[in-house]
Amino acid sequence: SPALRVTEWSDVVDWWPQLGPASEKYNRGVVGLATGSATYPGAAVLSVAGALAGPTGMIRYAGGARAEVLHHHPSVIATGRVADAGRVQAWVCGAGLGTGKEAAAELRAVLAAPVPVVLDADALTLLVDGKMADRLRDRDAPIVVTPHDREYTRLCGETPGADRAAATLRLAAWMNAVVLLKGDRTVIGTPDGRAYVNPTGTAALATGGTGDVLAGLLGSLLAAGLPADRAATAAAYLHGLAGREAARTGPVTAPDVATALRPVLARLP
Ligand code: AMP
Ligand code: MG
Repeated sequence: SPALRVTEWSDVVDWWPQLGPASEKYNRGVVGLATGSATYPGAAVLSVAGALAGPTGMIRYAGGARAEVLHHHPSVIATGRVADAGRVQAWVCGAGLGTGKEAAAELRAVLAAPVPVVLDADALTLLVDGKMADRLRDRDAPIVVTPHDREYTRLCGETPGADRAAATLRLAAWMNAVVLLKGDRTVIGTPDGRAYVNPTGTAALATGGTGDVLAGLLGSLLAAGLPADRAATAAAYLHGLAGREAARTGPVTAPDVATALRPVLARLP
């Protein structure tokens, strides 16, 4: 079994981008989201909420739930398609996207962009359906995949099993991607064989939509310039803390987790 590094608060503090006089909305990073659809507008709203909590200065939404996203998040620029979104520094693709032809075309557009991407949920299903998972190996820009156990099983054709770090590293090596395997103790694995375990998780996060918030936050960290392994590790850590923060006042829903990211991030120096 591989050596597991446990993420610490001081790691996140070290990696977090600082604001300063030279900050402007573009140089803080621009994140693009290809999430949601007419059928699943909530996934769009939640992933954008996660991205908005992060350090980037600008959000471009390119999916099928523009009206809902703008209603909840008026600071976002919303276009209908990935090709129309303009320049972004990282893409988040998958949550609520659907698995039809149009969704597949949007995923291909995201993968063609020379920037880091987060692939989650329906994007993972599309990779399997299109037999694309092993064709991403040669992509130049980083990929982070964020499966829960069932998504992992679909990707790999086998369950993660008891040794979750080893399972994460197998998939990371096969896909040449950073893998964030979600669960009670989320594990992050890198293609070069490093594994990190997140200590902040809480079962309060076991509710619909919290993964969408995580994917958005992770995209923001990538767009802000964090390397993929640090972005994934920090996103899981902060997301877990937000789940705990939200649970202090009652039962947790996914929007509460996005809201609770603010007091958590306010503790950063
Ligand atoms: P998703 O299934 O995509 O909505 O993602 C669920 C989120 O909740 C992930 O961040 C998981 O790590 C987290 N989560 C789910 N169940 C648990 C649990 N029992 N303990 C801690 N975190 C959990
Ligand atoms: Mg999910």
